[in-house]
Amino acid sequence: MKRILITGGAGFIGSHLCERLLNEGNDIICLDNFFTGSKDNIRHLIGNDHFELVRHDITKEYFAEVDEIYNLACPASPPHYQYNAIKTIKTSVLGMINMLGLAKRCKATILQASTSEVYGDPVVHPQNESYWGNVNPIGIRSCYDEGKRCAETLMMDYHRQNGLDTRIIRIFNTYGPNMDMNDGRVVSNFVVQALQNKDITIYGDGSQTRSFCYVSDLVDGMISMMNNKQGFIGPVNLGNPSERTILDFAKLIIELTNSNSKIINLPLPKDDPTQRKPDITLAKKELNWEPKIDIKDGLLKTIKYFENKIRENK
Ligand code: NAD
Ligand code: UDP
Repeated sequence: MKRILITGGAGFIGSHLCERLLNEGNDIICLDNFFTGSKDNIRHLIGNDHFELVRHDITKEYFAEVDEIYNLACPASPPHYQYNAIKTIKTSVLGMINMLGLAKRCKATILQASTSEVYGDPVVHPQNESYWGNVNPIGIRSCYDEGKRCAETLMMDYHRQNGLDTRIIRIFNTYGPNMDMNDGRVVSNFVVQALQNKDITIYGDGSQTRSFCYVSDLVDGMISMMNNKQGFIGPVNLGNPSERTILDFAKLIIELTNSNSKIINLPLPKDDPTQRKPDITLAKKELNWEPKIDIKDGLLKTIKYFENKIRENK
């Protein structure tokens, strides 16, 4: 039995990871400050002897004896990470330093949830791991993008300087149950709008592209990366390479929900990346990983989840 710390464990991805690693027979510490996460996501795990919930903020030091750390704590939705930009960068940088210090003390393996945002508004398409990116260092997305880039630097410096066993994954847009209804990201926004027959809000003309990965596929990739014993430390892209425009995505959601919603166009936020698609050659080669869940199947599960949430909130 491994003792595993999951920071951001009450968030969307973290809650799936907690459940999976607990079911696989591990001892889990789920640490969260509940900024964007919720006890609802992990309520069914509370009471299990091998699950411990800790309210803590990773910008402050934390001590526990653990074998592995998955560092997911950080708001991921643009409106949420921009709400308190300074706090976001502190979470990525001070939080990373605190978690690396803990990993060093415990000789734990540490995995950092990095992001496709390290590529910024990419001029290389699809994005592979050797691309250094095109990031605005002073814009409204920089608190997140540059924070995550600095966290990657810290991971690599602790690896080179202190011999820490580190793993970096770059997550591309992931969706599924346990996303917050008011999260502000495109999947939750469009599905909730469609289910309520409200206008679907496309930012800009909808020609920007994204590639959507279902959460169970991502969790498979995260665990394979942590368990990889071949000396492969990344960074590695984890995402679904099936790319579509945001306009096509809106039409797909309307079709799958049988909605009467109309599409409207709102201003495009500043620095919104125009295209994004992972090159997953490296993940296939090193981890034998690729996503399995078809977008329609994943979206139908997500739609069902939001239907229940809307019903509960009535
Ligand atoms: P989320 O907002 O649902 O989860 C983040 C969790 O971290 C929340 O539970 C939040 O309360 C917690 N948190 C935030 N700041 C904290 C702090 N200072 N101390 C302790 N806890 C804190 O987002 P998510 O989609 O589950 O993302 C999880 C991780 O994956 C994030 O690091 C995010 O950057 C990364 N990521 C996600 C995606 C995606 O598409 N979902 C894409 C790229 C990267
Ligand atoms: N988007 C949109 N309408 C919304 C929310 C998002 O058109 O209600 C667009 C957003 O401008 C971006 C894409 O959808 O081009 C993905 O946005 P999200 O916030 O999910 O994540 P990002 O990939 O930009 O980090």
